[in-house]
Formats: sequence, C-alpha cells, structure tokens
Amino acid sequence: MLYFYKQITHPINNMHAYMHHFFKQLFAEASLVYNHGSLILPYFQTIIDHHDVLDQRLQVLFEAYMGLAVAEKVQVQQAYGNNNSIAQVCNNAIRPVKFDELPVGIRDPLKGLYGSRGVLYQMLTAKDNYDAVKKRCGSLKGHFESFRVHNPLSVCPFCGMENLLTDYDDTKNEYDHYLSKGDYPFYSINFNNLTPVCDYCNKAGNKGQKDIPFQPGTNLQVQDELYDPYSVAYPTHAIELTINASTTDLKKTLIAGRYP
Ligand SMILES: [Zn+2]
Repeated sequence: MLYFYKQITHPINNMHAYMHHFFKQLFAEASLVYNHGSLILPYFQTIIDHHDVLDQRLQVLFEAYMGLAVAEKVQVQQAYGNNNSIAQVCNNAIRPVKFDELPVGIRDPLKGLYGSRGVLYQMLTAKDNYDAVKKRCGSLKGHFESFRVHNPLSVCPFCGMENLLTDYDDTKNEYDHYLSKGDYPFYSINFNNLTPVCDYCNKAGNKGQKDIPFQPGTNLQVQDELYDPYSVAYPTHAIELTINASTTDLKKTLIAGRYP
C-alpha cells in the first residue's frame, strides 16, 4: 500500500456490532433453545422482524454451534477472535482461520451468513430492498461519500495509479474484502476489512479474490506480512526510484524493451 486509509464512524458498522453481540451471547449461552431475548439487540430485532431469511440463518447457526463438542466450540470462539483482530493478522501476530479449518458442522451455517453469498453483506450493500437495514445502517453509497470526505487523496492506495471516484460523483468505487470473504468467516461486514479500490485493482487477476496472506507460489504454511489498510502506525517506508538513462529517447527504449 502507498498510503493508509483513515477509518470513519458510520452507521453501516452497526450490523457488525449487532452480530458481535449475537456471538458474545452465543459463546456464553447455556440454553439450547434459540431465543431472541438474549441474542438479539432491540435495533437488530427490527431488521430480523422484516427479514425472515436472516432469522432462519441465525437459528441454523445457533443450533449448529450448540451441537458442537466443547473443544470445537472453543475452536469457533478462537476463530472469531482471530479473524476480527485484523491489525494483528496483518502483523503476523495472529493467524486468520479459514472456513475449511473449522468443525465441519458449522462451516455451511457460517457461509450462509458470511461467505461469498452470505446474507449479511448482501443485505448491507444491496442498492434496493432491505429498507429496515438501511434505516439502521445507512447505505454503502452513503458510507462511500463520508469515507471520501475523510480520505480525500485522489489515487487508489493499492496501485497508486488509478484515480478513485469522489463524494461528488453519482457512483462509487467498489469495495474490496482485504481478506477474502470466500475463504475466511467473520470478515464480510467488518469494515476494517473493507476498502474502496479502483476499477483496475478490483478486476479479476489483480487483487480480486486472492487469498493474500497465503498466495499460491509461496510457502502456504507461512503467512505473508501484510499492510493493515487502516494502520495508524505509518511505517517510514519510502519509494526510491533511480533511472540510469543511456538514451534520452525513452519512448523508443521502452517499446524496444517490451517488443525486443
Ligand atoms: Zn488500484
């Protein structure tokens, strides 16, 4: 990354907070009966009342979790803690946990909420429908406008070449899951893991769905150190460029280099 984004306060973070409460209660839950009273915050209840699919998937997850052995429950709790500690994951202090490393019985229920087609991200970012969600969490376009006011730099921090759209534009840039929501649970609606990127970086084959801590071609057991996109540490990295020109005809030299 060439620079770091500044995190902002926006109601879109409410969905993650609602789910955080759900998991906190789930991990402490003694009752085997799915019960809104302890699991669901009042504002979240209004969303669930309007969207049965979310209620059903939360219940499926609850029952799957309650069916796990004690050691498996601990595994899920650790995965939740690890994957929501994004700065430490980027520093290699913590290893992120993938769907396929979790107990078999809870993988699909978690994917139904957080995976590539998980309902949480879909509800939060859809342009239309889900009015109850928008009332509590605002829209992704609204988040983008506020984000760009607090992050006014023009170029994409990942490539340093393409311009980003601004809060004055009618459209917005796409948001990228820094750690892929297809590989890792609990990341799809955590906005510390979501960043606007330029169209070039968002294309398949560039950043796309790459599993950036464990890329093919590297030792897959060794986690790569990453930049935390919202780092406030600002490491003193700098780019130094030296050109040893043997000709002043750079255009001809570059073309010759590309097509020898
Ligand atoms: Zn870019």
